[in-house]
Amino acid sequence: MRKIRYHEQQPPAVGEAVEVAESILWIRMPLPFILDHINLWAIDEGDGWTLVDTGIKMPNLQRAWEKLLAGPLSQKPVRRVIVTHMHPDHMGLAGWLCERLNAPLYMTAEEYFVGRSLTLGRWDKAPPEIMAFFKRTGLSLAEQELVDKAGYGHFADTSLPPPAAFCRLRDGMTLNLGAQTFQVKVGRGHSPEHACLIRPHDGLMISGDQLLPKISSNISVHAMEPEADPLAEWLDSLAEMAQLSDDTLVLPAHGLPFYGAAVRAKALIAEHEDRLNTVRALCRTPQRAIDLLPHIFKREVVGRQILLAAGEATAHLHYLRERGELTFEDDADGVRWFSVPSS
Ligand SMILES: [Zn+2]
Repeated sequence: MRKIRYHEQQPPAVGEAVEVAESILWIRMPLPFILDHINLWAIDEGDGWTLVDTGIKMPNLQRAWEKLLAGPLSQKPVRRVIVTHMHPDHMGLAGWLCERLNAPLYMTAEEYFVGRSLTLGRWDKAPPEIMAFFKRTGLSLAEQELVDKAGYGHFADTSLPPPAAFCRLRDGMTLNLGAQTFQVKVGRGHSPEHACLIRPHDGLMISGDQLLPKISSNISVHAMEPEADPLAEWLDSLAEMAQLSDDTLVLPAHGLPFYGAAVRAKALIAEHEDRLNTVRALCRTPQRAIDLLPHIFKREVVGRQILLAAGEATAHLHYLRERGELTFEDDADGVRWFSVPSS
């Protein structure tokens, strides 16, 4: 199988920027997770900058932005801030940055409204409909208690509310950024309406989390929309990515810039298909989402990771359920068991 090929440019230090392609600066910010960084981009419009993504809400990132604004970005004004999707590592500082720069925010509507609402709602104890979702996945009573005690709606810990107004990005629209033209390509499954930016004249793509070189983006059913089927949307989006030319330089939010978008998209599709096959085989006897974890994840799932992992397992179960390959039954304790229907 063909492999992706990395661009030769190495990442910049925090607070610095390097040109990775014609008129595009690469910026890196730290993240306090196992995934320890995010890539951000500054597009040179000729007489100004467009920033793409902002980093998570942490004081050291604001200091890094100040260093960039006093250094490599200092010669021209920032004309706008584009956020690919509402996850805190991407949207977290948009509220501060747009105000600090007096620049408008550009996002798709679903990302903006979901992101904005998540920064506003908070519960000290998890609401019953949220607890019901985790119970259905088969979490132990001790794990359920942890969810309950932690409360629900911690989004604002890592993301500021975005600005009160925004400019809407739509799938397929052309964005004129000064001297440059980009096209918006929407992908779904990882988040509601994720925007990628494609520069048609050289095929370059700022991919956000829609196409990453090493890791597989999280595709989860979330407690907020417990019957969703995000994996179908994700696989559709990857199938579109698999049409891209091998010459496309992909600028991902995590990892290194690379060539080989189609190769990578196909490898990710194959990874999910493997997992789906595992789930099909396991469900010959009834399974809860939680039962799948040791079979579909290579790494051991520890601590609070179990919540995301349960959501990701549920995404695979729902994909098969929506295609008629699995049925389910809720037991007296509210736990959901999925199985291959008896013929
Ligand atoms: Zn994301």
